[in-house]
Amino acid sequence: MDVRGKNVFVTGSTRGIGEAIAIAFAKAGANIVLNGRSAISSEKLAEISALGVTCIGVSGDISDFTKAGDMIREAQEKLGSVDILVNNAGITNDKLLLRMDAEDFKKCLDINLTGTFNMTQHVLKQMMKKREGAIINLASVSGLIGNVGQANYAASKAGVVGLTKSVAREVATRGITCNAIAPGFIATDMTDVLSEKVKEQVTKQIPLQRFGNVEDIAKAAVFLAENAYITGQVINVDGGLVMHG
Ligand code: NAD
Repeated sequence: MDVRGKNVFVTGSTRGIGEAIAIAFAKAGANIVLNGRSAISSEKLAEISALGVTCIGVSGDISDFTKAGDMIREAQEKLGSVDILVNNAGITNDKLLLRMDAEDFKKCLDINLTGTFNMTQHVLKQMMKKREGAIINLASVSGLIGNVGQANYAASKAGVVGLTKSVAREVATRGITCNAIAPGFIATDMTDVLSEKVKEQVTKQIPLQRFGNVEDIAKAAVFLAENAYITGQVINVDGGLVMHG
Protein backbone atom coordinates (compact mmCIF):
# COMPACT_ATOMS: atom_id res chain seq x y z
CA MET A 1 0.00 0.00 0.00
CA ASP A 2 1.18 3.50 -0.76
CA VAL A 3 0.95 5.01 2.72
CA ARG A 4 0.97 8.63 1.52
CA GLY A 5 -2.32 10.28 2.48
CA LYS A 6 -3.49 7.12 4.30
CA ASN A 7 -4.73 7.28 7.91
CA VAL A 8 -2.83 5.33 10.55
CA PHE A 9 -4.13 4.62 14.08
CA VAL A 10 -1.25 3.76 16.44
CA THR A 11 -2.36 2.58 19.88
CA GLY A 12 -0.17 3.56 22.83
CA SER A 13 1.67 6.19 20.80
CA THR A 14 2.38 8.78 23.50
CA ARG A 15 5.92 7.47 23.97
CA GLY A 16 8.39 4.69 23.14
CA ILE A 17 7.90 2.41 20.16
CA GLY A 18 4.39 3.69 19.38
CA GLU A 19 5.54 7.29 19.18
CA ALA A 20 8.42 6.31 16.86
CA ILE A 21 6.01 4.36 14.64
CA ALA A 22 3.71 7.39 14.43
CA ILE A 23 6.64 9.65 13.47
CA ALA A 24 7.90 7.18 10.83
CA PHE A 25 4.47 6.94 9.18
CA ALA A 26 4.11 10.74 9.28
CA LYS A 27 7.52 11.09 7.61
CA ALA A 28 6.25 8.69 4.93
CA GLY A 29 3.29 11.04 4.35
CA ALA A 30 0.51 9.32 6.33
CA ASN A 31 -1.98 11.04 8.65
CA ILE A 32 -1.76 9.93 12.25
CA VAL A 33 -4.11 9.09 15.12
CA LEU A 34 -2.20 9.25 18.39
CA ASN A 35 -3.62 7.25 21.29
CA GLY A 36 -2.96 6.73 24.97
CA ARG A 37 -5.06 6.16 28.04
CA SER A 38 -5.19 9.89 28.88
CA ALA A 39 -5.62 13.00 26.70
CA ILE A 40 -2.89 13.56 24.10
CA SER A 41 -0.88 16.72 24.69
CA SER A 42 -1.03 19.57 22.18
CA GLU A 43 2.81 19.45 21.99
CA LYS A 44 2.74 15.83 20.75
CA LEU A 45 0.06 16.66 18.16
CA ALA A 46 2.01 19.74 17.00
CA GLU A 47 5.26 17.75 16.71
CA ILE A 48 3.70 15.34 14.21
CA SER A 49 1.57 17.94 12.39
CA ALA A 50 4.84 19.85 11.79
CA LEU A 51 5.84 16.98 9.47
CA GLY A 52 3.11 18.19 7.09
CA VAL A 53 0.37 15.67 7.83
CA THR A 54 -2.87 15.70 9.80
CA CYS A 55 -2.50 14.42 13.35
CA ILE A 56 -5.36 13.93 15.81
CA GLY A 57 -5.49 12.49 19.32
CA VAL A 58 -8.04 9.87 20.35
CA SER A 59 -7.58 8.78 23.94
CA GLY A 60 -8.96 5.74 25.74
CA ASP A 61 -8.24 2.31 27.10
CA ILE A 62 -7.96 -0.35 24.39
CA SER A 63 -8.90 -3.13 26.84
CA ASP A 64 -12.46 -1.72 27.01
CA PHE A 65 -14.36 -3.20 24.03
CA THR A 66 -16.97 -0.43 23.82
CA LYS A 67 -14.36 2.31 24.17
CA ALA A 68 -12.25 0.67 21.45
CA GLY A 69 -15.25 0.90 19.10
CA ASP A 70 -15.85 4.54 20.05
CA MET A 71 -12.19 5.37 19.36
CA ILE A 72 -12.16 3.75 15.91
CA ARG A 73 -15.44 5.52 15.04
CA GLU A 74 -14.10 8.88 16.24
CA ALA A 75 -11.00 8.48 14.05
CA GLN A 76 -13.07 7.40 11.06
CA GLU A 77 -15.44 10.36 11.47
CA LYS A 78 -12.61 12.87 11.77
CA LEU A 79 -10.32 11.49 9.03
CA GLY A 80 -12.77 9.60 6.79
CA SER A 81 -11.19 6.16 7.37
CA VAL A 82 -8.60 4.17 9.27
CA ASP A 83 -6.47 2.42 6.64
CA ILE A 84 -3.68 1.08 8.85
CA LEU A 85 -4.00 -0.04 12.47
CA VAL A 86 -0.87 -0.56 14.57
CA ASN A 87 -1.74 -2.44 17.77
CA ASN A 88 1.22 -1.25 19.79
CA ALA A 89 -0.14 -0.48 23.29
CA GLY A 90 1.06 -3.01 25.81
CA ILE A 91 2.24 -3.51 29.36
CA THR A 92 4.53 -5.78 31.33
CA ASN A 93 3.79 -6.89 34.88
CA ASP A 94 6.71 -9.24 35.60
CA LYS A 95 6.63 -11.80 38.41
CA LEU A 96 7.66 -15.41 38.82
CA LEU A 97 4.65 -17.63 38.19
CA LEU A 98 4.37 -18.80 41.78
CA ARG A 99 4.11 -15.18 42.95
CA MET A 100 1.75 -14.11 40.17
CA ASP A 101 -1.84 -13.70 41.25
CA ALA A 102 -4.82 -14.06 38.93
CA GLU A 103 -5.17 -10.28 38.58
CA ASP A 104 -1.49 -9.87 37.48
CA PHE A 105 -2.14 -12.48 34.80
CA LYS A 106 -5.48 -11.12 33.67
CA LYS A 107 -4.38 -7.48 33.39
CA CYS A 108 -1.60 -8.36 30.95
CA LEU A 109 -3.93 -10.49 28.84
CA ASP A 110 -6.69 -7.83 28.93
CA ILE A 111 -4.47 -5.09 27.50
CA ASN A 112 -1.98 -6.93 25.30
CA LEU A 113 -4.23 -9.57 23.76
CA THR A 114 -7.87 -8.58 24.29
CA GLY A 115 -7.01 -4.94 23.51
CA THR A 116 -5.54 -6.07 20.18
CA PHE A 117 -8.69 -8.10 19.46
CA ASN A 118 -10.96 -5.16 20.41
CA MET A 119 -9.28 -2.65 18.12
CA THR A 120 -8.90 -5.15 15.27
CA GLN A 121 -12.54 -6.21 15.29
CA HIS A 122 -13.79 -2.62 15.21
CA VAL A 123 -11.41 -1.46 12.47
CA LEU A 124 -11.98 -4.46 10.20
CA LYS A 125 -15.60 -3.62 9.41
CA GLN A 126 -14.64 -0.54 7.42
CA MET A 127 -11.44 -2.05 5.99
CA MET A 128 -13.45 -4.99 4.60
CA LYS A 129 -15.88 -2.63 2.87
CA LYS A 130 -12.94 -0.68 1.39
CA ARG A 131 -11.16 -3.91 0.41
CA GLU A 132 -7.87 -2.45 1.58
CA GLY A 133 -6.03 -2.25 4.88
CA ALA A 134 -3.04 -3.26 6.94
CA ILE A 135 -2.94 -4.37 10.56
CA ILE A 136 0.38 -4.56 12.38
CA ASN A 137 0.52 -6.09 15.86
CA LEU A 138 3.35 -5.73 18.35
CA ALA A 139 4.23 -9.18 19.65
CA SER A 140 7.55 -9.94 21.41
CA VAL A 141 10.34 -12.50 21.37
CA SER A 142 9.01 -13.45 24.83
CA GLY A 143 5.88 -14.72 23.10
CA LEU A 144 8.02 -16.93 20.85
CA ILE A 145 10.53 -18.43 23.29
CA GLY A 146 9.16 -17.52 26.75
CA ASN A 147 10.98 -15.60 29.46
CA VAL A 148 11.50 -16.06 33.19
CA GLY A 149 9.11 -13.80 35.11
CA GLN A 150 6.93 -13.14 32.07
CA ALA A 151 4.42 -16.02 31.95
CA ASN A 152 1.58 -13.49 31.67
CA TYR A 153 3.32 -11.26 29.12
CA ALA A 154 4.67 -14.18 27.05
CA ALA A 155 1.23 -15.82 27.00
CA SER A 156 -0.37 -12.55 25.86
CA LYS A 157 2.19 -12.07 23.09
CA ALA A 158 1.98 -15.72 21.95
CA GLY A 159 -1.75 -15.05 21.75
CA VAL A 160 -1.08 -12.00 19.59
CA VAL A 161 0.89 -14.23 17.20
CA GLY A 162 -2.01 -16.69 16.90
CA LEU A 163 -4.51 -13.85 16.50
CA THR A 164 -2.35 -12.28 13.78
CA LYS A 165 -2.14 -15.47 11.71
CA SER A 166 -5.86 -16.23 12.05
CA VAL A 167 -6.92 -12.69 11.10
CA ALA A 168 -4.48 -12.77 8.16
CA ARG A 169 -6.19 -15.92 6.84
CA GLU A 170 -9.71 -14.56 7.42
CA VAL A 171 -9.27 -11.22 5.63
CA ALA A 172 -6.72 -11.94 2.90
CA THR A 173 -9.39 -12.20 0.19
CA ARG A 174 -10.49 -8.65 1.08
CA GLY A 175 -7.06 -7.20 0.31
CA ILE A 176 -6.16 -6.73 3.98
CA THR A 177 -2.84 -7.83 5.46
CA CYS A 178 -2.16 -8.65 9.09
CA ASN A 179 1.36 -9.14 10.42
CA ALA A 180 3.23 -8.99 13.70
CA ILE A 181 6.57 -7.56 14.73
CA ALA A 182 8.42 -9.37 17.51
CA PRO A 183 10.87 -6.92 19.05
CA GLY A 184 13.73 -8.16 21.15
CA PHE A 185 15.08 -5.73 23.77
CA ILE A 186 14.41 -2.15 22.70
CA ALA A 187 15.50 0.88 24.74
CA THR A 188 12.22 2.38 26.08
CA ASP A 189 10.54 3.08 29.44
CA MET A 190 9.42 -0.57 29.40
CA THR A 191 12.99 -1.93 29.48
CA ASP A 192 14.39 0.96 31.51
CA VAL A 193 13.10 -0.75 34.66
CA LEU A 194 15.61 -3.61 34.18
CA SER A 195 18.69 -3.43 36.44
CA GLU A 196 22.08 -2.65 34.87
CA LYS A 197 23.14 -6.22 35.69
CA VAL A 198 20.20 -7.72 33.78
CA LYS A 199 20.79 -5.34 30.86
CA GLU A 200 24.44 -6.49 30.67
CA GLN A 201 23.45 -10.17 30.80
CA VAL A 202 20.83 -9.69 28.09
CA THR A 203 23.18 -7.73 25.82
CA LYS A 204 25.68 -10.60 25.89
CA GLN A 205 23.00 -12.91 24.46
CA ILE A 206 22.16 -10.59 21.53
CA PRO A 207 24.31 -11.41 18.47
CA LEU A 208 24.39 -7.71 17.48
CA GLN A 209 25.48 -6.91 21.07
CA ARG A 210 23.12 -4.00 21.76
CA PHE A 211 19.55 -3.08 22.62
CA GLY A 212 17.55 -1.94 19.58
CA ASN A 213 16.25 1.60 18.99
CA VAL A 214 12.58 2.49 18.65
CA GLU A 215 13.34 3.51 15.05
CA ASP A 216 14.41 -0.08 14.24
CA ILE A 217 10.84 -1.18 15.02
CA ALA A 218 9.23 1.81 13.30
CA LYS A 219 11.02 1.02 10.02
CA ALA A 220 9.65 -2.53 10.12
CA ALA A 221 6.10 -1.25 10.69
CA VAL A 222 6.21 1.07 7.67
CA PHE A 223 7.75 -1.71 5.56
CA LEU A 224 4.92 -4.12 6.47
CA ALA A 225 2.22 -1.55 5.68
CA GLU A 226 3.83 -0.77 2.32
CA ASN A 227 4.15 -4.38 1.18
CA ALA A 228 0.73 -5.77 0.27
CA TYR A 229 2.13 -9.26 -0.48
CA ILE A 230 3.31 -10.04 3.06
CA THR A 231 0.66 -11.38 5.41
CA GLY A 232 0.45 -13.69 8.43
CA GLN A 233 4.12 -13.19 9.23
CA VAL A 234 5.99 -12.48 12.43
CA ILE A 235 9.06 -10.36 11.73
CA ASN A 236 11.68 -10.47 14.47
CA VAL A 237 13.49 -7.19 15.04
CA ASP A 238 15.77 -8.36 17.81
CA GLY A 239 19.46 -8.10 16.86
CA GLY A 240 19.46 -11.82 16.09
CA LEU A 241 18.30 -12.92 19.57
CA VAL A 242 15.85 -15.46 18.13
CA MET A 243 16.78 -17.17 14.87
CA HIS A 244 14.20 -19.43 13.30
CA GLY A 245 15.33 -22.80 11.96
P1 NAD B 1 6.01 1.76 26.72
O1 NAD B 1 5.63 1.28 28.07
O2 NAD B 1 7.14 2.72 26.60
O3 NAD B 1 4.73 2.41 26.00
C1 NAD B 1 3.50 1.76 25.99
C2 NAD B 1 2.41 2.69 25.50
O4 NAD B 1 1.16 1.99 25.58
C3 NAD B 1 2.27 3.94 26.36
O5 NAD B 1 1.99 5.03 25.49
C4 NAD B 1 1.04 3.64 27.23
O6 NAD B 1 0.35 4.79 27.63
C5 NAD B 1 0.21 2.81 26.25
N1 NAD B 1 -0.79 1.96 26.89
C6 NAD B 1 -0.60 1.02 27.86
N2 NAD B 1 -1.77 0.46 28.19
C7 NAD B 1 -2.72 1.03 27.41
C8 NAD B 1 -4.13 0.87 27.28
N3 NAD B 1 -4.79 -0.01 28.04
N4 NAD B 1 -4.79 1.62 26.38
C9 NAD B 1 -4.13 2.53 25.61
N5 NAD B 1 -2.80 2.73 25.69
C10 NAD B 1 -2.11 2.00 26.59
O7 NAD B 1 6.25 0.46 25.85
P2 NAD B 1 7.19 0.20 24.57
O8 NAD B 1 8.47 -0.33 25.05
O9 NAD B 1 7.15 1.37 23.66
O10 NAD B 1 6.40 -1.04 23.91
C11 NAD B 1 5.44 -0.88 22.87
C12 NAD B 1 4.98 -2.27 22.44
O11 NAD B 1 6.11 -3.05 22.02
C13 NAD B 1 4.30 -3.07 23.55
O12 NAD B 1 3.24 -3.82 23.00
C14 NAD B 1 5.38 -3.98 24.04
O13 NAD B 1 4.89 -5.14 24.64
C15 NAD B 1 6.13 -4.26 22.75
N6 NAD B 1 7.52 -4.70 22.99
C16 NAD B 1 8.43 -3.86 23.55
C17 NAD B 1 9.72 -4.31 23.77
C18 NAD B 1 10.80 -3.46 24.37
O14 NAD B 1 11.93 -3.95 24.54
N7 NAD B 1 10.56 -2.20 24.68
C19 NAD B 1 10.06 -5.64 23.43
C20 NAD B 1 9.10 -6.46 22.88
C21 NAD B 1 7.82 -5.98 22.65
